[in-house]
Amino acid sequence: MLRVYRTDPINPDPEVIRIASDQIKRGGLVAFPTETVYGLGADTFNADACLKVFRAKGRPPDNPLIIHIASINELGRVAVDVPDIVWRVIDKAWPGPLTLILPKAPDVPKEVTGGRNTVAVRSPAHPVALALIKYSGTPIAAPSANKSGRPSPTLAEHVIEDYRDDDVDIVILDAGPTFFGVESTIIDVTRKPPVLLRPGPFTLEELRSLLGTDIVVPEFARGLGEADVALAPGMKYRHYAPRTRLLVVECGDYNGLLKLLRDVTVDYMARSMKVALLITKETAESLFTMYPEISGVSVILMGYRRDPYTIAANLFDSLRNLDKINVDIGIAEGIEERGIGLAIMNRLRKASGLSIIKC
Ligand code: AMP
Ligand code: MG
Repeated sequence: MLRVYRTDPINPDPEVIRIASDQIKRGGLVAFPTETVYGLGADTFNADACLKVFRAKGRPPDNPLIIHIASINELGRVAVDVPDIVWRVIDKAWPGPLTLILPKAPDVPKEVTGGRNTVAVRSPAHPVALALIKYSGTPIAAPSANKSGRPSPTLAEHVIEDYRDDDVDIVILDAGPTFFGVESTIIDVTRKPPVLLRPGPFTLEELRSLLGTDIVVPEFARGLGEADVALAPGMKYRHYAPRTRLLVVECGDYNGLLKLLRDVTVDYMARSMKVALLITKETAESLFTMYPEISGVSVILMGYRRDPYTIAANLFDSLRNLDKINVDIGIAEGIEERGIGLAIMNRLRKASGLSIIKC
């Protein structure tokens, strides 16, 4: 049964937090908002509760969960041997969308880490998430609340969509849209130099300046190629995927990008396929002015090119909407891999199953 409770995102309703924290304490599941996406959480120290997360999502058992803590003081319960330089990063980044891979504390169940000797941990910058962790009295282990392989939920409605036909008991805290819309940045600081496992809202540029070291950015962190499972479990490439076929069109030159979007669209239209363009407001305006021959296609607006944070916020909802409008193919506009743009391109490329068309 799904039990949905609404709460204000900034001033969490104490009664709602009490119901949800009781659910965690009893070994149950709670879907809760964070500043990135909605998570599906359980008591980190209750292995059976954590196994319920895997079962509900259909998640492979070797794909570990992120542990969410309410304050830096709780870090010692889940991780050990935190280097000084990492403390400096934590001071600046938490609470916030940065997950660190650190050596695991002995009490963290192996189910949480998929048998690894490292943990993924962060402190989320969302009042509802922080209140839930605090009142549960335990760090909460939580991956994104989507069914495995589906786009991550940025609205409580997305969580309901994924589980409404299932026989599961989940308390869902509905606090409206999440703030960033893409999952946290993950960096492995047990390696030298540190390795970016997943780009997110905490940008690579910020990390570089904080750490003052080089950071390795593997191809899979850009959404290209398959991850080394030992290093980055759960980052194999078909992910975040809509059911509808998706292509990503990429070109460094903006006029070239517009022309390529036009050409690819015309090509599919000529094959009697119904096309939806996942594009920005600026691109929609230019494209249909320059190329009126494609003005009949469906459009899903993803935000503003001049402000990529708006694209991040709409990204997963756009991918889910693609499945609701009855088209044969979605064609998405690529953006620059700078700042949060790196996270957006990682998600789009993976969502497309690496169907990328370049100029
Ligand atoms: P999700 O929040 O759904 O994206 O899932 C958590 C992510 O954290 C997954 O991509 C995991 O592969 C990653 N993760 C969790 N623990 C570890 C770890 N110990 N080492 C590397 N990656 C991890
Ligand atoms: Mg996920």
